[in-house]
Order: sequence, then C-alpha cells, then structure tokens
Amino acid sequence: MNEDWTKWCPGCRQHLPVEDWHRHKGTKDGLQYRCKVCQRQLVTSARNRRKKAEQQAMRRLLKEQREAYDALLREALEEVGLA
Ligand SMILES: [Zn+2]
Repeated sequence: MNEDWTKWCPGCRQHLPVEDWHRHKGTKDGLQYRCKVCQRQLVTSARNRRKKAEQQAMRRLLKEQREAYDALLREALEEVGLA
C-alpha cells in the first residue's frame, strides 16, 4: 500500500491518509467504513443514545410505580374515610 493512498470518509467528508483509519477485516480495502475520529464519535453517540433510552425507560417505570402506589394509597384512604 503506498503512502499517498487515501480514503474518502463519509463521516467528515474528506479524504484521509490510511494511518487515520482503523483496520477492519471483511471490508474490501481492509479498513473501517469511517476514519478513526468518526468511528469513535459513532461509538460514543451510540453509547449515549442507549444510556438516554435506559434513563427514559427507568423514569417511566418509576413514574408508573409511583402513580400505581398513589392510586392504591388513595383507595385505601377512601376506604377508611380519610380521603
Ligand atoms: Zn471521518
């Protein structure tokens, strides 16, 4: 592979030298689809997205549990005439 060899990165939209790419078995040229920087961003943003989704699911669950608990409590209080 010659030193002038560059590859187009669809992430940052520029041609980058081979040393800016991670190797990847299974692609035609043996390199990742995106350069090192874009690849890292991709991994980071995927991780953040998953984290956010988990937090949202947890919040929703807690809210549902609190509402269910409130309803039960209200029912119980009404039953004994305290509500
Ligand atoms: Zn890139």
